[in-house]
Amino acid sequence: MSEQYDVVVIGAGPGGYVAAIRAAQNGLKTACVEEWLDPNGEHVLGGTCLNVGCIPSKALLESSEKFESLRLHGAEEGIVAEGLHLDVPAMIHRKDKIVTELTSGIAQLFKANGVTWLKGRGTLLADKQIRVSGPDGERIVGAQSVIIATGSVPVNIPPAPLTGSTIVDNTGALAWNTVPQSLGVIGAGVIGLELGSVWRRLGAEVTVLEAVDSFLPMADAAIAKTAAREFKKQGLDIRLGTLVTGTEITDDGVLIRYKDSQGEHSMTVERLIVAVGRLPNTKNIAEITLPVDARGFIEIDDHCRTSIEGVWAIGDCVRGPMLAHKASEEGIAVADRIAGKIGHINYDAVPNVIYTHPEISWVGKTEEQLKEEGVAYRVGSFPMAASGRAKAMNETAGMVKLLADAQTDRILGLHMIGVRSSELLAQGVIAIEMQATAEDLQCTMFAHPTLSEAVHEAALSAHGLAVHSVNKKAR
Ligand code: FAD
Ligand code: AMP
Repeated sequence: MSEQYDVVVIGAGPGGYVAAIRAAQNGLKTACVEEWLDPNGEHVLGGTCLNVGCIPSKALLESSEKFESLRLHGAEEGIVAEGLHLDVPAMIHRKDKIVTELTSGIAQLFKANGVTWLKGRGTLLADKQIRVSGPDGERIVGAQSVIIATGSVPVNIPPAPLTGSTIVDNTGALAWNTVPQSLGVIGAGVIGLELGSVWRRLGAEVTVLEAVDSFLPMADAAIAKTAAREFKKQGLDIRLGTLVTGTEITDDGVLIRYKDSQGEHSMTVERLIVAVGRLPNTKNIAEITLPVDARGFIEIDDHCRTSIEGVWAIGDCVRGPMLAHKASEEGIAVADRIAGKIGHINYDAVPNVIYTHPEISWVGKTEEQLKEEGVAYRVGSFPMAASGRAKAMNETAGMVKLLADAQTDRILGLHMIGVRSSELLAQGVIAIEMQATAEDLQCTMFAHPTLSEAVHEAALSAHGLAVHSVNKKAR
């Protein structure tokens, strides 16, 4: 008789580890299988997000932003930092320390909640049995319910195969100990923009090559336009409609061949980041038939159930946005459903953030989506330049834009570009979740002076009532 659990989770990223903790909290005997090895060959929890994604990228974004802010704006604020210089290995070391603290924190949480950590690779077999192949050999465990949370992996494209530390994906780009003089980035998506920003702030000349003609097509067009202008001012060279067709390692770095509307060209950069998207990690995870779609996402119903009884799937390996919080919320909902409770997820209120400077943040529908759907709406907007707090912070770039239903006044979208807008975004998520109206936000008191007042003013502006900026109607 194999070792038997109520729940076995395969994968310990933000989807899987959160599901395992909630399942244990629900009184279920739970194990989580995880194969990730850190650069020292040690087994670690946390998946992409903690090891090579959200957390390390934000650590480097914060450090590089402080460096650039002092370098460019220190003197203006009366802070003269003579001899300001970079110690990149120290910056990388701090990032690594944060990762280790957080991944070992999850191991502590597993212990505290009674989750068994099965180190090694998990393979789903018939009858909800799982083979774990790890450092101690192979063992078979059985479960009443299985949650697959195997995440995603970076897309590799034939024109740009990865090579050691010169042509890299996100893992390599978060580990360089020196700043390249010139850097190419393939892909102007979230990851490409964030990683490109880190190395540009630290001194690299960065060129972003993007095959598609439009910039940030998933964001509200007004916000994307402001973002393009801000990035250009910062010196980030973003070339749209530019398809990379080949690369070659040379004595000078990487020769990149690309095509645009003018024809075929080439350029040389010292290093290259490939950030062309991610694919579900669903190859060889089961020795039974587990239906996947054409792109490899595990097929599930609205409740994250696969077609195999008692087998669920969550996070990046299933449909929907590839975001850590979406994975975690699915993990919680599934662990609750297994325990006979009701799991709640509102896919219309998923927060989106691009952690550039300024940050780009949104929830709900864009103006373009509302137009396409024929929904009548009101727009309220407020420039960050009119915010007293933003001025005090020397951070006046950007705007807040609020969309409300013209009939019901319900808030349908909140779109922002501005410093720390990732933190302001929760207001929009809560408003949509609570089915709030623009008037509800108007009637709410906001602390002064805070950046959040810009959200208040945008709600007022939706009815032509903004106090600290000129309303469109009044002009
Ligand atoms: P993952 O985090 O990928 O975890 C899956 C885990 O399963 C891995 O640990 C893997 O080793 C394990 N596994 C897979 N197969 C097996 C197997 N057969 N046996 C055992 N273990 C297995 N999202 C955000 O929300 N905010 C951000 O700021 C953000 N920044 C990002 C920055 C970068 C550079 C990258 C690459 C991603 C970023 N993301 C961000 C996306 C986020 O990391 C993912 O959406 C999130 O990690 C998905 O969680 P998951 O649990 O589904 O999968
Ligand atoms: P995302 O999926 O948001 O991370 O974005 C990845 C981006 O990479 C997409 O916008 C793609 O259009 C872009 N991309 C993919 N392949 C290429 C290529 N060969 N050259 C330039 N851009 C590419």
